[in-house]
Amino acid sequence: MDFHKLCTFETFKQVWNQYGYGENLQDMIEQEFTRIKGITYLDHAATTLYPESLIRDYSQDISRNVYGNPHSHNPSSRLTHDTIERVRYRLLQHFNVTPEEYSVIFTSGCTAALKLVAESFPWMPQTEGEAGSHFCYLTDSHTSVVGIRGLTSGKGVVTLPVSPQDVENRAKDAAQGEDVICRTPHLFCYPAQSNFCGRKYPLSHVKGIQARHLYPACAHQGRWFVLLDAASHVSCSPLNLQDCPADFIPISFYKMFGFPTGLGALLVHNDAAGTLKKTYFGGGTAAAYLSGEDYYVHALNISDRFEDGTVSFLDIIAVNHGFEALYRITGGMHNIQQHTFGLARYTYMLLSSLCHGNGRPVAQIYTEGQFESPSTQGAILNFNLVDSHGQIIGYSQVDRMASLYNIHVRTGCFCNTGACQYFLGMTDLQMRRNLQAGHVCGDSMDLVDGQPTGSVRVSFGYMSTFEDCQKFLNFVAECFLEKPFTLDQDRLEKLKTVTAAPLYEDYPIKISNREKVDEKKKLAEASLRGFVHRDSSSHREAHTLTNMYIYPIKSCGAYEVHNWPVGPLGLLYDRGWMVVNGNGVCLSQKREQRLCLIHPKVHLPSDKLLLQTSGMDTISVPLEQNTPMNTSYQVCQSKVCGDRVETVDCGNEAASWLSDFLGQPCRLIRLSPDFTREMKKSPTGDATSTSLSLVNEAQYLMINRASVELIQKLMSSRQDDSEGDQILDTQNVISRFRANLVIAGVEPFEEDNWSHLVIGNTRFVITGQCGRCQMVGVDQDTGTRTKEPLISLSAYRAGKVTFGVYLTQQLPEGSTTQSVVLSAGSPIEPKQHGS
Ligand SMILES: *Cc1c(COP(=O)(O)O)cnc(C)c1O
Repeated sequence: MDFHKLCTFETFKQVWNQYGYGENLQDMIEQEFTRIKGITYLDHAATTLYPESLIRDYSQDISRNVYGNPHSHNPSSRLTHDTIERVRYRLLQHFNVTPEEYSVIFTSGCTAALKLVAESFPWMPQTEGEAGSHFCYLTDSHTSVVGIRGLTSGKGVVTLPVSPQDVENRAKDAAQGEDVICRTPHLFCYPAQSNFCGRKYPLSHVKGIQARHLYPACAHQGRWFVLLDAASHVSCSPLNLQDCPADFIPISFYKMFGFPTGLGALLVHNDAAGTLKKTYFGGGTAAAYLSGEDYYVHALNISDRFEDGTVSFLDIIAVNHGFEALYRITGGMHNIQQHTFGLARYTYMLLSSLCHGNGRPVAQIYTEGQFESPSTQGAILNFNLVDSHGQIIGYSQVDRMASLYNIHVRTGCFCNTGACQYFLGMTDLQMRRNLQAGHVCGDSMDLVDGQPTGSVRVSFGYMSTFEDCQKFLNFVAECFLEKPFTLDQDRLEKLKTVTAAPLYEDYPIKISNREKVDEKKKLAEASLRGFVHRDSSSHREAHTLTNMYIYPIKSCGAYEVHNWPVGPLGLLYDRGWMVVNGNGVCLSQKREQRLCLIHPKVHLPSDKLLLQTSGMDTISVPLEQNTPMNTSYQVCQSKVCGDRVETVDCGNEAASWLSDFLGQPCRLIRLSPDFTREMKKSPTGDATSTSLSLVNEAQYLMINRASVELIQKLMSSRQDDSEGDQILDTQNVISRFRANLVIAGVEPFEEDNWSHLVIGNTRFVITGQCGRCQMVGVDQDTGTRTKEPLISLSAYRAGKVTFGVYLTQQLPEGSTTQSVVLSAGSPIEPKQHGS
């Protein structure tokens, strides 16, 4: 079944009636967003994309005008000052308020705006007999809001997290607090829209909290200020501050326009402005001060008072062009809201109706409502995919497969632990256990004991299209659905007519042909195993090292070796060098596939590293560079897989050779001889540390031919589904996995269960399995990309897509590496876990 046939634009129109902005959406995208051709960008909640006209108009503006520092008084400075003032008005107008009602303080972003409020809020400590300030926040808040706690705890301020359920339940029965004259300031923070699930919280709560009749918590005597975190809300929705006169509203501009970055604002209600206390004072904020005495009078104007130093004036000018372009293209926020909500609603309905062959739904969607209206739901959809047995598929795997399809989504927990815990049902204890298990925010440890640590988020922007939704749904169907998949038509029909939302519906599970499917799967698996068995039964128990490769330059071609010395970091000269771009950032095949066409060769007799590729003269650099005094070798800091490494530059000849070949400014650098990079986790568990070259993870990567053959077999059985990828020969597949050691094993993936092994007389510890990504799609002979073998591997390896294992060498006590040589053809002695 193909989605494009199943769900047409007709279906969309039954689901929502507004699409686009009057003229042809496709024409607009071709004019303004040429660069996203081929990409399905679904991460607008992280940042939306800027239109080309914004950049064009902005660049013309700043090329033609002379903008001086706004703190001077000359004509160019005046121009800047006046333009900035205009942008303030424009921003206020966008939220339907005037400078009499609100002020704008430019900051570096929403987080900086939140920090400004936290640091300037007049928190009153609790004293004997007198209650102090309260800091309340909705648990479905961004980390940057929860972090205000860092300033309130220990100050005698009462911190009260409030869950969204408390809001719903208590909003009804809370009575208005009596009016007593008490000026204790309290702060209540909540997001206008959850950045996790797109739920919109009622804007009417602003007035409710200010009037102290919403929650019992806010019945506390004093003055309640409301901070409405609008960062997520403003990207696709209008916000009318006349209806919800919050005291503080932080935003970031890149979420509205995609450009400029590093700029945000705090909108402050003028009635609340006086309560913010100035502590640190930076340039431009004082009316007067004495440098030798504690005398400081702050500027009267609240913007001047809180904009420490020179504001990012050129970026503020870009905001003007941001508004221009946004209104010109779409006609305004209302249209954007209608368009993006429709896409989210459509995607939600189809994704939630999509079922495996056995009738189980493919997605667990994290939402309170059912996408019934743009006033309660934004253009964000958060979910985890589930296999046909009901097991959650880790978000990292979904992320990797999505990259393969050029679909860009966000995964993890979205800087919103509160929502993540709530929706994934994680207790505080589990959160702590996950941390102990090694999971930290932002990593790829997506499952701990089968339970998800995060999820997948897709989000839409004003330039998203119906085709984007289709591509995404089609991807889910192709990669994660057990065929033949079904669509729960009843559910879909019901959703189309939904108005009010019951919470958490249970899906009825149809088990019509489930047994049949399982049977088929078992047969297929048995025949695959049979194939591998037959092939290798003749040399049962005979594990050998068949090939060895080094990759002298990270991400470039392999160099096959037969007898090779072992150095302190693994095979000698493996990943000793790397290529960086003009900004000093490491290049890899993820972005620059042509790297694999460069074939470095280590020539030990002449002490040279040769760089060769077809169509270019071969050049060389010395293998050892013991010349730190030579000033032409610059020491520079780089990053490899999150580690800081110290490197030295290999000179201009290599740099221009690489730049010529890759068509962009590049340089060749190598690990500085004085620098030791240590592996983060000691694999042996003892105190001895392991040193690494410029590799990503470990000293050695080993793969098993038996697993390669299994993957080949799986690929050919998928041939009918795939879109014409050629059948790949064994050597081609082996080269894609970029291993150092290739062994002839007996069973596919048996190495996953080994703990140690001995090759020749060198012992190795197995430190983990190698997680795979779209890099294995790069054909190492041609530099072209295919979806295989990742698709087949992923289909076979439910859960983590790993292939091959990492090894760390363990040299005998007191021995030096000099004498150790590894040889292809050596026998291998594996040791199972526990043996
Ligand atoms: C993005 C976001 C933030 C943080 O914004 P920064 O630009 O990273 O400072 C805070 N709150 C919400 C709701 C957000 O969506």
